[in-house]
Amino acid sequence: MVPPILKHRVGGLEARRAGGATAGFPTIARPDTGEWACALRRTPVPSTERGDSFILQATLGCSWNACTYCAMYRGKRYQVRPLDAVLAEISEGSGRSAEEVRHVFVADGDPLGMGLDHWEPILRALAASFPRLRRVSTYATARNLLEKSSEELDRLRKWGLSLLYIGPESGDDVTLRRLAKGASTAEHIEAARKAREAGMEQSLIFLLGAGGRERSEEHARASGRLATAMDPRSSPPSP
Ligand code: SF4
Repeated sequence: MVPPILKHRVGGLEARRAGGATAGFPTIARPDTGEWACALRRTPVPSTERGDSFILQATLGCSWNACTYCAMYRGKRYQVRPLDAVLAEISEGSGRSAEEVRHVFVADGDPLGMGLDHWEPILRALAASFPRLRRVSTYATARNLLEKSSEELDRLRKWGLSLLYIGPESGDDVTLRRLAKGASTAEHIEAARKAREAGMEQSLIFLLGAGGRERSEEHARASGRLATAMDPRSSPPSP
């Protein structure tokens, strides 16, 4: 059965978010040909349905919110949630399942942009509340990483932030500009270097078909080169 489709017109691309089993993972199609350009924009948030995982909503929306293919947060105004409310959720989650939680994912679109005045109490509270915690992960953009100093990233890692999901989407600068990704390949490489030097693991996300027919080969080859240059080091989820 074809799931219901929510349509958004975004920057010349038609972004579609499928309902039903794939809810939350937008797909995009060229309005002129109807050809599907990609299947899923995001890898699924890891372990969302496992009892050992906890999703913490520290921000709402995305501070960039301009990528042409992404309608995920189009209707949401970016906000950092009040710290009291976030800490209360950690306390509540700990009351329910302190011994079970091993992975925490901090949402929404690019929480790494949040200031250390929020990150520090959140990460310290997570460490204190979940004694079996092994991993804290979040989405990050190259811009988020470049805006933070190496010292700030070192501190985030020391407090427990261990894995970043980064979506360059393409290694082709022409395609990146068309996607309004907000950072070049060189900036993604520099951002990845900073994360790596801080000891953070990275999981990279590329968008199949993002170059369209015209730049299909450039997109594919350059994306491979960028993935190699960013040199992500991410261990598989623990059992
Ligand atoms: S940075 Fe991520 S969440 Fe924000 S608009 Fe781009 S793809 Fe969407």
